[in-house]
Amino acid sequence: MPTPEAPPPLIGHPLAWSGLILAILLGLAGLGLWSYRDGVARLGEQGRNDLDLHIAYLEGLLAKYEPLPALLATDPRLSDFLRAPGGHESIEALNRYLETINRISDAADTYLMDAEGLTIAASNWQTERPFVGRNFSFRPYFRDAMDGQLGRYFALGNTSGQRGYYFAYPVMEAGQALGAVVVKIDIGEAERRWAKPDRILLVTDPDGVVFLATRPEFRFRTLHPLASERRGRIQDSHRYPGTELTPLGLVPVAAVGTGELVRLDPERPWWREWPWLLQSRPMPTAGWQVHELIQTQDAIRDSLKLVLLAIALLTTLFLIAALRRQHQHGRRLQSEFAEQTRAALERSNLELEARVASRTTELTRSNQRLRDEIEERRRAEQALRETQQALIQSAKLATLGQLSAGINHELNQPLAAIRAYADNGLLLLAKGRLEDVETNLGQILELTERMAKIGAQLKLFARKTSAESSDLPLLAVLEGAARLLAPALERCGGTLEPDIPPGIGVRANDVLLQQVLVNLLGNACQAIADRPERRIRVQARRREAHVIIGVRDTGPGIPEANRDLIFEPFFTTKAAGEGLGLGLAISARIATDMGGALVALPSETGACFELTLPAADLQP
Ligand code: ADP
Repeated sequence: MPTPEAPPPLIGHPLAWSGLILAILLGLAGLGLWSYRDGVARLGEQGRNDLDLHIAYLEGLLAKYEPLPALLATDPRLSDFLRAPGGHESIEALNRYLETINRISDAADTYLMDAEGLTIAASNWQTERPFVGRNFSFRPYFRDAMDGQLGRYFALGNTSGQRGYYFAYPVMEAGQALGAVVVKIDIGEAERRWAKPDRILLVTDPDGVVFLATRPEFRFRTLHPLASERRGRIQDSHRYPGTELTPLGLVPVAAVGTGELVRLDPERPWWREWPWLLQSRPMPTAGWQVHELIQTQDAIRDSLKLVLLAIALLTTLFLIAALRRQHQHGRRLQSEFAEQTRAALERSNLELEARVASRTTELTRSNQRLRDEIEERRRAEQALRETQQALIQSAKLATLGQLSAGINHELNQPLAAIRAYADNGLLLLAKGRLEDVETNLGQILELTERMAKIGAQLKLFARKTSAESSDLPLLAVLEGAARLLAPALERCGGTLEPDIPPGIGVRANDVLLQQVLVNLLGNACQAIADRPERRIRVQARRREAHVIIGVRDTGPGIPEANRDLIFEPFFTTKAAGEGLGLGLAISARIATDMGGALVALPSETGACFELTLPAADLQP
């Protein structure tokens, strides 16, 4: 299984990274700049609106007062007075008149000048610094009026020290200007109306001198440095008495749209003071220029916000992309793992199948071998069985041979007795002793029966045994065997001691069982032949589903080493001609075939054989 690896970086090469970062920075800078310019453009639009409004206001203000002097000039009181200046009372009356007019029109000052430029009546006649008695012939508006025109002029009042706009109109009589009536208006009101913290409003005269400014420190300064000749001319005109007319020192930064960005204070570092947007518009009716400076801090703040927003957006996008990549990488790893697992499973499956196939082949082969072996065994067994059958047959014949002498004796004896009984019977018959004849005949009958039994026994050995089993009374079978062995027993002088309860029955083939018993008893006879004590004890007991038959003798017994060997075919300790060494082998085989067993038990006195057979419940 592969170790889980980290997802590949979004951008692998460091150069690509720096390129991307550079591109992002450039993009952000571009975005910031674009946003700033856009903000400045919007400010410019606002500024232009402001300028339009202010110009309209100023023009309205001037237009309001412009006809006033001409109207006053038509008043005959003025021309009369100029023609023949009256006494003190008429001057006062005129002063009061002008004062009234001035108050009603809301002008700053209204006054009347004679042809020499001397002020002969004024609305401010009662103030601390009245115009009355002062000569303003140097003022251009006076000269214009005396030339028969409407005089217009802006100046800083020589007497009042206040800025004012002057309208002057000649008082005519018979085509001759007797003097001029002047209306001075205060335009400082505009500064108060326009004052705003983020804007500076300036109005400059044709020489570029700021005479209106919403910031007092800007007043009577110039937009651009003045040539000395021009400065001298302005000073000569007493237009702005007591002023230095120093330049404002605006530093241009960049031109934008309809204006330009400027810095107000070149001494301050640029990051402490953001540029201002300067826009100007002419006001031809008065020959002025109206300017507005707007702080661009808001535009900068907006563009910074936009840049920050873009950074946040980019970061979010980057994070989403990284997460997506991580997710995709995880899924790829998962599918790779699944693929590997599937391949590994397939491999191991194939291996397993191959192993199973080879094992199957091996098994089939070994199965075949086993089958062959079984077949061989079966055949060997068959051969063995056949051999055994043959051996049994020969053993029977051998036994028959052994028995023949005994049988001979057994048959001869009754035959001799029968003959004696018959001879004797004939004699008795001749003597007419019929009762004794009958007794003799009875004896003969008994003897022939006994002979017939012996014959029957021998018949058993003559034919091949069938393995059919039946329920047999054990005692009867033992008696049959004992009868067959009676001559042998007699010869060896031994006694048979049966200890078999009469009811005990076994499930066995009678002939074969008898043969086994004959074998065991025959061996015992031979064993005890030379012993001082010659007894053979046959004991039978029922143990559950079996009957255990013990055959013990008082012979020399069987040495430990021979105990298993004696059941081997052809094992014998007897002299040649006396034993074939088949008896026990055949007997053990017969016992096994009948569902029992034959074993030799260890014993200290003589031999002890134990024959086990299936028990049978005898019918009473
Ligand atoms: P055989 O009697 O022809 O030798 P058996 O198979 O009947 O063949 O017996 C094998 C051997 O077992 C005998 O040679 C003998 O040594 C031993 N044997 C059998 N029965 C007895 C017994 N009752 N006492 C001592 N030895 C015995």
